[in-house]
Amino acid sequence: MFSIMTKDELARLATGERCCMLAELSAVARMRGRFAGGRRAAGEAQRFEMATENAAVARRIVSLARDLFDLRPQAKTARRKGGAPGNLYVVWLPWDETTRAALEEMGLVLPARGATRQSPGGRRAMRAGVPWRILSRQCCRRAYLRGTFLARGYVQNPEKAYHMEIVTDAEPLACGIVRIAASFGVAARVTGRRRGFMVYVKGGDDVAQLLRVMGACASVITLESVRVMRGVRGDVNRAVNCDTANVAKTVDAGLVQTEIIRDFVARAGMGSLPRGLHEIAELRLAHPEATLKELGEMLAPPITKSAANHRMRRLLDLARRAETKEILTPARIL
Ligand SMILES: [Zn+2]
Repeated sequence: MFSIMTKDELARLATGERCCMLAELSAVARMRGRFAGGRRAAGEAQRFEMATENAAVARRIVSLARDLFDLRPQAKTARRKGGAPGNLYVVWLPWDETTRAALEEMGLVLPARGATRQSPGGRRAMRAGVPWRILSRQCCRRAYLRGTFLARGYVQNPEKAYHMEIVTDAEPLACGIVRIAASFGVAARVTGRRRGFMVYVKGGDDVAQLLRVMGACASVITLESVRVMRGVRGDVNRAVNCDTANVAKTVDAGLVQTEIIRDFVARAGMGSLPRGLHEIAELRLAHPEATLKELGEMLAPPITKSAANHRMRRLLDLARRAETKEILTPARIL
């Protein structure tokens, strides 16, 4: 689900500058494109097809081709291979001089020697690696990464694991993607698969950074809040379960609580809290390093450690629910 949400978000982003549109469509066409029709043995083709299971991605291809080259691709739906559920959306262009010129500008095919309208170069033309020529600007490298993810990317639900992957058919392409990711500080790796080469990224920091680079802001927020909540759960449990909790752990828990409370207050305001929670929230903000026992003693009248703990849990629970609600309606955070 998270992967589909991320793709939907990316496929609906503003398309941006022409240079970036070119880079994004180049990635999608390279990874989803194939030549079809014509006599295969003779290396002929009648169409250039791009197929995807994602309707938003198909629409993205159509609008990029229109805005960039004034092309009007045709689209059709087909059954997926092997009876897999869902549709396959096939967006296609006639394989003619105009299409060839577009592919050439996207760095996907080499300039054809002696290509004519009748014979624009055939199906053996596609280039293996990354078209560095059109990726000299940083904005375009971001768009290119976005295109590779829209075409063949997957990101694991962050509740389960921090993992993101992009499947390619050729090693030069996989290594090119790794180099682009590295230029943004993302440590990606390549592994060989039964068919092709997979680029993958592990760890919360790198997955978040790659999503950020691609422009998936809502997905980054979702992922980061999962990370924060996990941190809180862990730290609160530790501080609560362990009577002899050492100071460092207490401070950690306090800092995470402070961060969450500050975030919540910035969005919802203190006024939305019941008085008891309001008090403990203000004390926590004023004393991030204090233990819950100390916070309880600062109240007038003072409350016990377990009562302070109880209030803090209710407060964090409230913040967590407010956040989940926002994640479910991403329009509000954008
Ligand atoms: Zn650009």
